[in-house]
Amino acid sequence: MEKNKDHRQLGIEMDLFFIDPFVGKGFPIWLPNGLILKNKIRDFIIEQEKKYNFELVETPVIGSVELYKKSGHYDHYKENIFPIMKLDEGEEFVLRPMACPHHIMIYKHKLRSYKNLPIRLAEQVYQFRYESSGGLLGLERVRAMNLTDSHIFLRDDQIEQEIENAFNIVKSTLEKFNINIDYIELALHDPKDKEKYHQDDEKWRLAEQSLKNFLENKNIKYISKIGEAAFYGPKIDIQIKTKLNHIITLSTIQLDFVLPEKFDIFYVDKNLNKKRPIMIHRGLIGTYERFISVLLEQTQGDFPLWLAPIQVAVVPVSKYQSNYANEIYNSLIDNNIRAILDDTEERLSNKIRILNERKVKIQLIVGENEERDGKVSCRLLGKKANKIVVLKDILNLFK
Ligand SMILES: [Zn+2]
Repeated sequence: MEKNKDHRQLGIEMDLFFIDPFVGKGFPIWLPNGLILKNKIRDFIIEQEKKYNFELVETPVIGSVELYKKSGHYDHYKENIFPIMKLDEGEEFVLRPMACPHHIMIYKHKLRSYKNLPIRLAEQVYQFRYESSGGLLGLERVRAMNLTDSHIFLRDDQIEQEIENAFNIVKSTLEKFNINIDYIELALHDPKDKEKYHQDDEKWRLAEQSLKNFLENKNIKYISKIGEAAFYGPKIDIQIKTKLNHIITLSTIQLDFVLPEKFDIFYVDKNLNKKRPIMIHRGLIGTYERFISVLLEQTQGDFPLWLAPIQVAVVPVSKYQSNYANEIYNSLIDNNIRAILDDTEERLSNKIRILNERKVKIQLIVGENEERDGKVSCRLLGKKANKIVVLKDILNLFK
């Protein structure tokens, strides 16, 4: 198997997605197999978030310009926001570049007590980012993207615990997908850059120190980078190297003391005083688009069985085994296995070549002998030898 295909080529061979300039440059279209893959990842993540006590919410893909002016995104990220849509009565909207302000407004919607914190919100977000057409690259750089975005609202005394939780959920998720981390970056602010960074030395010191303490207490190796912090706070970025040697941030944990102030959110403490919460922005696997591009390149499309868009293919050697092949195919489908049946008249070697290209994990060949014995000849992706087994052995693989 060729080892160095980039995700765009694998996406075509595995029939996962395409991008057509007639529809829009930078706007991927997910095909049935691609959507299966995306949904499997999403289901796993929702399950993970449940374990870590996140609550799911849903907010609109369009936000008022005022909302993003208030958050500061409009000033800091204007070049990455699509142009404003003006309505008749003077209302102004943008396609949202991120969901943070929406989640802050959910927090603000109710009076919160110190007992309610931490509040952990998560959403399957659809958002937009204006990129020049020259900067677009397959799924790695797109203009519309899905992600699981989360925001945690907490008290000062909960920082350490919540950073640890955020880090644990990131770590266990990346482990589940066998993602190779290139390095961990601690992104700090540059005190000399008065334009980008909110001016509050004491708060920056506290936030940066908490992230540093966490990494050092846990003996996690990291590289510090000054000037890489978000405008609202420092962050821990999990960095990955792509096949084209681009370094990209996959997961991120960002401490934010600026947005809570800008939106004037608070909770009521024991003594009925108003207190300002801190916020953590937690990106688990980045966008699904980028994550899938990394996953494709790191695995070359050879996913674990639970993730493979097509798990099993049934291939009769000739038309005489059609009925038997159909029977097997139907039992697989009845057992909720993602199977296909290839009973075309194509040559067997050709069929197998295409199944390999599509990264079908289990290929069941049925010829005259297999039918007579009530068995199947099983070939696993990437393995040369076939094994003669009964269907029950295959079904057991899925238990
Ligand atoms: Zn955010």
